[in-house]
Amino acid sequence: TLTSRLSGIIKNLRGQARLTEDNIAEALREVRMALLEADVALPVVKDFIAHVKARALGREVIGSLTPGQALIQVVHEELTRLMGNQVADLDLATTPPAVILMAGLQGSGKTTTSAKLARLLKEQKKKVLLASCDVYRPAAIEQLRQLARQLQVDFYEAPEAVRPVEIARAALDFARTRYYDVAIVDTAGRLAIDQEMMDEIRALHEALKPIETLFVVDAMQGQDAVNVARAFNEALPLTGVVLTKLDGDARGGAALSVRAVTGKPIKFVGVSEKPTGLEPFHPERMASRVLGMGDVLSLIEEARRQVDQAQAAKIAKKLKVGKGFDLEDFRAQLQQMQKMGGLAALLDKLPGNLAQAAQGHSLDDRLLRRIEGIINSMTPEERANPAILKASRKRRIAAGAGVQVQDVNRLLKQFEDMQKMMKSLSKGGLGKMLRGMKG
Ligand code: GDP
Ligand code: MG
Repeated sequence: TLTSRLSGIIKNLRGQARLTEDNIAEALREVRMALLEADVALPVVKDFIAHVKARALGREVIGSLTPGQALIQVVHEELTRLMGNQVADLDLATTPPAVILMAGLQGSGKTTTSAKLARLLKEQKKKVLLASCDVYRPAAIEQLRQLARQLQVDFYEAPEAVRPVEIARAALDFARTRYYDVAIVDTAGRLAIDQEMMDEIRALHEALKPIETLFVVDAMQGQDAVNVARAFNEALPLTGVVLTKLDGDARGGAALSVRAVTGKPIKFVGVSEKPTGLEPFHPERMASRVLGMGDVLSLIEEARRQVDQAQAAKIAKKLKVGKGFDLEDFRAQLQQMQKMGGLAALLDKLPGNLAQAAQGHSLDDRLLRRIEGIINSMTPEERANPAILKASRKRRIAAGAGVQVQDVNRLLKQFEDMQKMMKSLSKGGLGKMLRGMKG
């Protein structure tokens, strides 16, 4: 019936619920799926879901959110918090040269990122030196040499046949005596974690005493990123993470896994092979990417913004003096709904299962517009006091709205039912709920 559909909509518009096991169950399943699809490691997903559930239960659903949307908001907040809340910058506050040591598996993007960082720091007017300790692959040293030349950044030329730790010491000496601000030291990686590699990087760390030890990890690595991150975190006092290859189709789950395992901030993300392809890490954006929920989050923000707070206060006041919910208030609700792009847009922005759930109590936009049209054709007096609507007024309104008198009658009947419902709600705490919307 229309009444039950309307009450469904009102319920949607004004979340009158608290989050409960029941009303978040479906959205929680959705989130779990999204995280797994984004390649967040399973144990991390489990911990996270349990944590979110504990935080969410009992929360009031504010403004115009549905419980599912409210949960997603909690999820987004928690994801953002988990990933560090704010942008973490490089810390170079030390007696120069500030050393940045690059660590990570082969192919993760250490050499590329070394060059990107050099470029960034050069732009900040720092005197930068690039050095490579990757003696195992001559091509690797040549790669960095060429990048340095291209960027017009100095490159430390190590004598041939020297061990990595000796190169590191010599490069540091070189940087110190020539007053470099920053020395970026690139290292060799292996395709998989092995003891020799870990011993070497530890020795390099010991020799260089870097202020930044960056763990470089490929976002496409997905589930495996956890184990690699754990191994490097145990071997070295990491100061930050660089997540590379985010320009690919990686959903970014590695960000959450790596952060959860190391507890270290992600400082940069790599977004292309080019030296310009380095960006600060934005936890909030990454949270959205990991959730992969399209525009849901922007929709939630939109909905909150457009809840007209003055309107809410006015309605709350009316309820208090016992005048009740009138057609004017009803129309305001419909307009708010349309500001959000109507039902179609709303459903469009929801991810699959949520959209299907919403379809359950959907109402088409044509009907919404028709109701609004009828109310528009009324005078303010009539809206405030529908009891004065006798036959001649109804005819005038119907003609104005381009509908039949029976449509007007139907609306009035439904509205009366709804008014009763609102009255009973106001006793049960609608006023309190509306005040909640202001916060
Ligand atoms: P390393 O072995 O850790 O030094 O890794 P490299 O820096 O040599 O990078 C390995 C490959 O990944 C190279 O082909 C790079 O061009 C590429 N690469 C590195 N970072 C990024 C990135 O952020 N985006 C893309 N698309 N490619 C990257
Ligand atoms: Mg390399």
